[in-house]
Amino acid sequence: MLHSVRARLTLWYTAILALVLVIFGAVSYVLLAREIRAETDASLADTAHEFAAAFDPAEHTRGRDALLDFRYSDREILVLSPRAEVVMASKSRIGTVERKRIEAFVRAGGRGLHSIPGGEEGDGVRIIATPIDVLGTHYTVVVARALSEQADRLESAAQAVFFAIPVALLVAAAGGYLLARKSLGPVTVMSLKARQIGAETLDERIEIGNERDELGFLAVTLNGLLERLQGSFESQRRFMADASHELRTPIAIIQGEADVALGRRDRSAEDYRESIEVMQRAARKLTRIVQNLFLLARGDAGRYPMSMSRFYLGEIVADCVRGMRSVAQSRGVTITCSTAEDMVIVADEELIHRLVLNLVENAVKFTPEGGKVHVSLASQGGSYAIRVADTGHGIPASEQERIFERFYRGDRILPTNAGGAGLGLPIARWIAEVHGGELRLDHSGAEGSEFVAVLPNGCSEDLVASG
Ligand code: ADP
Repeated sequence: MLHSVRARLTLWYTAILALVLVIFGAVSYVLLAREIRAETDASLADTAHEFAAAFDPAEHTRGRDALLDFRYSDREILVLSPRAEVVMASKSRIGTVERKRIEAFVRAGGRGLHSIPGGEEGDGVRIIATPIDVLGTHYTVVVARALSEQADRLESAAQAVFFAIPVALLVAAAGGYLLARKSLGPVTVMSLKARQIGAETLDERIEIGNERDELGFLAVTLNGLLERLQGSFESQRRFMADASHELRTPIAIIQGEADVALGRRDRSAEDYRESIEVMQRAARKLTRIVQNLFLLARGDAGRYPMSMSRFYLGEIVADCVRGMRSVAQSRGVTITCSTAEDMVIVADEELIHRLVLNLVENAVKFTPEGGKVHVSLASQGGSYAIRVADTGHGIPASEQERIFERFYRGDRILPTNAGGAGLGLPIARWIAEVHGGELRLDHSGAEGSEFVAVLPNGCSEDLVASG
């Protein structure tokens, strides 16, 4: 039962309300008691005053007449002689014990308001003792009121309060429970809906009641989460499908070539060599794809072990260009490079090498015979900009956004069979970003394309410190 928020809410609410009501009841009781006592005292004083004023010895030769005029159902008047004996009393219901105590009080010179404790059964009386002179004799008028009456009033007030509190609590608890149930109802509906949503039904959404209340906000948040989950699920799925598709081709080549080589007995050593070379190329491609996939997977998981060091960026750039020179030459592409020597960077040397190589490889690959590729390195503020420009066919505007997506390859038919798996640019961009930089296509058109990678040199110091 207490595992339900509704029940807990109701319980807390009722408990707090009970506490408030009890405090309120207790304070009211104390105030009421004080009020009743003050009222009693005031009325006793009034009666004593009126009696004293009305007691005219000329008219009332017999004081009893005065007493007859002051017949109250709730209070009594006693007139005590100077020796403190009751000489006159209204029809008295005061017990003898109290009467004796009143006499003792007056005898002891007591004046004003006083509470006389009762005997064994009574609650006692509240009195006011006022002196009056009757024909030169000092009498004392005592007006008394039974305290039991005060106690009765208080008791009925207490009964009313203590009967009302449980009733109020019951009504409030029931109302609170219904209200909590009604307000939390959508949470149950949302939970049931969320439970139904699985990997196959990630396109479903939770119904949003009022967008502006907390539960609506929760539904919107959950829907946002589902949206992101769906997006990453779909891209994972696409990634898996594309990866297996890419792996299938070299595997099929190896398989086919092996079948052919082993299928015929009368093959020459030359034929076997050729087959093995084909398999070697396919295996190299396979290795590269698997390495790239592994790199991206570790990059995605944020678990790539960066090994930072301080080196000259110009050397790396020149190294990549040198490495590509023979390939470029074989394709009739001229490759040039302009770098400065003193550009020190703190970064993962292997990754930066791969970034530059991917860009230079692409530039050479997508530039037709007779074209040019130029790689330059410049310092701008706290960063270095590596620019790789070519005079290739350029990238159509519709593809420019997509070339950085994984496994995306342009439609262009390559002059040679040098097509990659569409992972070169995504990896290069990841490398730039993991170093706190960026990689973008600066411009591309009929005259060629230019990619620019911006790498910060200063912030790399932090990477070293944290690494
Ligand atoms: P891959 O080179 O393996 O195809 P990339 O991710 O490196 O994959 O490149 C994706 C696509 O971007 C290429 O297929 C190509 O269409 C386009 N591209 C990349 N670099 C260039 C370039 N320098 N000139 C023209 N197109 C390019």
